[in-house]
Amino acid sequence: VPELPEVEGYARYLASHALDQKIARVDLRDERILTIPKRRLERAVIGRKFRSVRRHGKHLFASTDGETWLHLHFGMTGDLAYYIDPAKEPRFARVIFDFENGAHLAYEDMRLFGYVDLVRDPDESIRDLGLGPDPLDPAFGLRAFRGLLSRRRGAIKSLLMSQDVIAGLGNLYVDEALFRSSIHPRRPVDGLDAEEARTLFSNIRRILQDVIARHARGADLSRRYLVMNREEGERCPACGGTIKRTVVFGRTTYYCGRHQK
Ligand SMILES: [Zn+2]
Repeated sequence: VPELPEVEGYARYLASHALDQKIARVDLRDERILTIPKRRLERAVIGRKFRSVRRHGKHLFASTDGETWLHLHFGMTGDLAYYIDPAKEPRFARVIFDFENGAHLAYEDMRLFGYVDLVRDPDESIRDLGLGPDPLDPAFGLRAFRGLLSRRRGAIKSLLMSQDVIAGLGNLYVDEALFRSSIHPRRPVDGLDAEEARTLFSNIRRILQDVIARHARGADLSRRYLVMNREEGERCPACGGTIKRTVVFGRTTYYCGRHQK
């Protein structure tokens, strides 16, 4: 499931391949992926170019030289592919932007939990979606993070999974951040002390930045990541304890039974 680091990868991919090329046509393969009528999408992009890319949480926005931005969400299986040879078209392409230069940008999504949308203004869209701050936004600091924690109750994992609190974290990287911070996923939010909040905040950022950098290099994650050891009974790469499995926020959760308290 694409989380913030993967969507950041798609944003960089779109920015490095698909900007500043005139869009000749929209090849819609499955209308279910659109939140808008096909003709509106065509009117908004044909004859225009993508100009810049912005990401907030798991949402990607591509500006056009018109009045609207393309808005993509990747659901569980969304991805982008840019290619010239039509034989490289992804199997589950739902919308393909055909450029005048003969290249194509396909939005693919096997399971159709993502969507393709148009918006006038990303900031307005972020507000309408009720999204919380993006954890990598430089304007989002420790004070703001503490503020979010102080107004909530319930398990820390549930809080970090809520897109209206912080946008972009999902099951894997929430587990990872709690693992790195030695905090049990069920710990009540109001039971965290100031030092734990600080550690958690900096680990969230460090993990996201590290994963983004590794993805960009095509490198695997470190073996010391919980992501690489998500199996019940596995040995904890941090302390040698035993990895346990439970369900929090309706999601399968892994944690170390020894060092996460
Ligand atoms: Zn451990």
